[in-house]
Amino acid sequence: MSDQNPVFIPGPTNIPDRLRLAMQMQTRDHRAPDFVDTLLPVLEGAKRVFGTSDGKVILFPASGTGGWEAAVSNTLSPGDTVLVARYGMFSHKWIDLCQRHGLDVQVIDCAWGSGAPADRFEAALSADKAHKIKAVLVTHNETATGVTSDIAGVRAAMDAASHPALLMVDAVSSLASMPFEMDAWGVDICVSGSQKGFMLTTGMAIVAVSPKALAAMETAKLPRTFFSFADMLALNPTGGYPYTPPLQLIYGLRESLKMLEEEGLENVYARHSRLATGVRKAVAGWGLRLVAEAPALYSDTVSAIYVPDGFDSDELTNHIFHEYGVSFGVGLGQMKGRAFRIGHLGMLTDVMVLSGLATVEMAMADLGYPVALGSGVTAAQEYFRTSRPQKLRKAA
Ligand SMILES: *Cc1c(COP(=O)(O)O)cnc(C)c1O
Repeated sequence: MSDQNPVFIPGPTNIPDRLRLAMQMQTRDHRAPDFVDTLLPVLEGAKRVFGTSDGKVILFPASGTGGWEAAVSNTLSPGDTVLVARYGMFSHKWIDLCQRHGLDVQVIDCAWGSGAPADRFEAALSADKAHKIKAVLVTHNETATGVTSDIAGVRAAMDAASHPALLMVDAVSSLASMPFEMDAWGVDICVSGSQKGFMLTTGMAIVAVSPKALAAMETAKLPRTFFSFADMLALNPTGGYPYTPPLQLIYGLRESLKMLEEEGLENVYARHSRLATGVRKAVAGWGLRLVAEAPALYSDTVSAIYVPDGFDSDELTNHIFHEYGVSFGVGLGQMKGRAFRIGHLGMLTDVMVLSGLATVEMAMADLGYPVALGSGVTAAQEYFRTSRPQKLRKAA
């Protein structure tokens, strides 16, 4: 099997050579007096990606799940009520984490394929006259279903109910690939990770925290040690860390931020949107259906696609893996066997996406799907060919 084929899983994503090299660092002393010169610009640069000037960025050696735990354990107390909607595997797992932390989780169950229900949040918050709900938790981009939710809409619902709960958002599979406006949307904690839009190896939870969340921390009683915001914030400004930092990932993030800024965040978002549109053109060309219920919910980083009745999506992804040496996302939870996923985030280009679409078509033909070779690829080609940014077209 070739290790040169890209992966089309929605994280971890393909690592640009430039970032692989940036992470190939010999050990340096994180207690050396010059570590502060490395750390602070990285924390500052990451704030621009979150869209915050008021917030603080914290880097934990962890995966995104550690970021969820940090968000909850630093700001809430045992028995506190949190309001969460479940519409996929990732929102489900954050709910599970809250329950294991002894929180009273008020769950709004939604169809998988739908997004965060701002109207139902507003109703629940309006009914909570005593303000027992301490936080609203939202998965911005539900990676299991390819659904992006409107965070500004959730904020508007909270404001309409005049409710003081914290707003915590999981943006693990959207940050650095899609617009995120932490300050403008009134987000109190945003959780991300190194291995998706930032195109790095797994191993760092990247979390941004608002002043309001930091104030909540003063009275919050859930235990936290490894994930303590306070320990981090006490030491980071002078280059200190409460334990050994993931040095190679911090160097990687420094380079990743450089790459994102060189391309320009707006261009990064536009590229993701274009690539996603090309994938959706292909899905329509195949005559298949997305799990996401409506165009307003379509994710620009991952598409979950139902296979036709009588077919098994696990068989499809396994066949592609064994026969063509390429990984696509499997159906998770309720979607197991029913849908496969195409991750289209990170360092992808038109050419890479077309190769993935062509491979899916070959595998579908092998397995007797009622999908004609070329039906999706042609649709994507036509779209990519005619929608290239002006600059690229001139240079070509
Ligand atoms: C990947 C992902 C996570 C975090 O997963 P880890 O494996 O812990 O990094 C959380 N939420 C979403 C939406 C994700 O896509």
